[in-house]
Order: sequence, then C-alpha cells, then structure tokens
Amino acid sequence: MKDPRLPAPRPDELQGRVIAVTGAGDGIGRAVALAAARHGAQVILIGRTVKKLQAVHRDIEATCGDVATIAPLDLEKALAGDYDTLAAAILERYGRLDGLVHCAGILGAMTPLEQYDVPTWCKVLHVNVTAAFVLTQVLLPALRQSAAASVIFSTSSVGRQGRAYWGAYAVSKFAVEGLGQVLAAEMQGSGPVRVNVLNPGATRTLMRRQAFPSENADLLATPDQVAAAYIALLGPSGASLDGQSLDCQ
Ligand code: NDP
Repeated sequence: MKDPRLPAPRPDELQGRVIAVTGAGDGIGRAVALAAARHGAQVILIGRTVKKLQAVHRDIEATCGDVATIAPLDLEKALAGDYDTLAAAILERYGRLDGLVHCAGILGAMTPLEQYDVPTWCKVLHVNVTAAFVLTQVLLPALRQSAAASVIFSTSSVGRQGRAYWGAYAVSKFAVEGLGQVLAAEMQGSGPVRVNVLNPGATRTLMRRQAFPSENADLLATPDQVAAAYIALLGPSGASLDGQSLDCQ
C-alpha cells in the first residue's frame, strides 16, 4: 500500500533543482529521470548503456528542452577515479546537487543459498550496495552545497523480510536499508541532506520480468506510476521525511 506520508508531487516540485539518477537508461530510473525533468529539474543521467542514456536524453530534450546531461558509469567496473571525475564534473557544472536517486540495480540469480554462485553474489552486493555507497560518498560535498538535498535508495520488500531463493538481491536490499539508516542518522542535524529508502513495489520492468517471467505484467504498476513518489520525496513535498523506509504502492 502506498505510504500515506508520501504526497502527490506538485507540477513544479523540482523547479530549479539539480537531480542525479542512477540506472537512468531503463526501468524505474528512466521514468524518474523523465518525471524529474517534467517537474522542472536539471537531470544528470547516470547509467551503464550509453545508447539507452542517449535515448532518454532525446526524450527529455523533446519535451523539456536542454535540461539533461549524460554521465556514463558502469557500477560494476568503475574505479575510484571514475567516481571522483563524475563528482568533480557535477560540482564544476552545477556547483551543487539537490537530489541523488539510486535506481541502478541487478537481480543476480534466483537460487538457494546452498548453490549460490559466489562471483554472482559479489557482483550483486557490489552493484547494489557498495557502488551506491561510494557514489553517495563522493557526491556528499555537492549535496552539502544544496539548500535542501534529498538522497533516495531503492529497496524491496525482500530487503525487509527475507524470502527463499532471493539470495544476494535480498541481502543487498537489507544492506541498502541499513545504508540509508546509517547515513540518515549521520546527516541529521549536520546540514541540508535528508536520506530515505523507497520501495517501488512490483513494477513493470525488465528486472521484474526476470524475477517473475510467467506473471501477467499488464496487472503491474508502470514505472511512470511509481516515479511520482520519488519526485515527491525529492522535493519540498517530502521535506518532512527523513530516515524513513517508505512504499510507493
Ligand atoms: P531494471 O532492470 O529495469 O533497470 C535497472 C537499471 O540499472 C538499468 O538502467 C540498468 O542499466 C542499471 N544497471 C544495472 N547494472 C548496472 C551497472 N553495472 N552500472 C550502472 N547501471 C546499471 O530494474 P528496475 O527499474 O525494475 O529497478 C530499479 C530499482 O528498483 C532497483 O534497485 C530494483 O532493485 C528496485 N526494485 C524494483 C522492483 C520492480 O518490481 N521492478 C521492485 C522492488 C525494487 P542497463 O539498462 O544499461 O543495464
């Protein structure tokens, strides 16, 4: 059920704000990036597949004008220098960052832990947790330059209650919940950054199809529908929400 504390976003919710979105080339990240631009933001599209980012950039340009920039970053392979380069480029171009949305993620294998492939485990934990931590860490100086910054990590119901065969993905989402709590506690009272964890719930994307190949996807929420909660949480409508774990639906 949608968290009643999450209001609907105002049309100008993100007017004048600079928002970075990971996984911006596809799925929920793509929808959040497009919605952020529609709600007035300048958007930094962070993702792995440049062609997908370029397509999102074109879509934003067609409807909102020249408000997006592309920042290719493969979270599986990126090294410290790649993160530092991105953070420096954001500070140089915008002077600050008002929002950081973590949507990039991978599912890994749906396998019993007894048989779980260890390299796959490491990859899922790295992309879903460690890379999100490092990106947030390097972007904190830019976030601290904002008058009111919002960081959102994407979680899942299997990150709150473990479920058989969800393996590294479930464990990574438990870690994301913890990452959000620790960072929120550290930020409280020490600056403009608030931190929340948001569960989009079952949403019609490639990842969902990978996890549930035989379900009727027409019954699922669309990425556009869940994006609204991200926008409200990024902007002034969500200003009172800090250190929370929330549900889009
Ligand atoms: P998708 O698989 O549709 O999209 C995932 C995004 O992550 C893609 O843009 C993908 O880029 C990007 N990505 C994957 N690996 C990397 C990498 N190494 N470096 C950079 N980017 C990468 O997933 P969803 O949109 O469904 O999921 C978005 C978030 O929501 C995830 O964190 C997921 O765990 C969470 N979630 C989703 C639910 C759902 O039902 N869909 C339910 C609960 C939580 P590319 O396309 O280039 O590979």
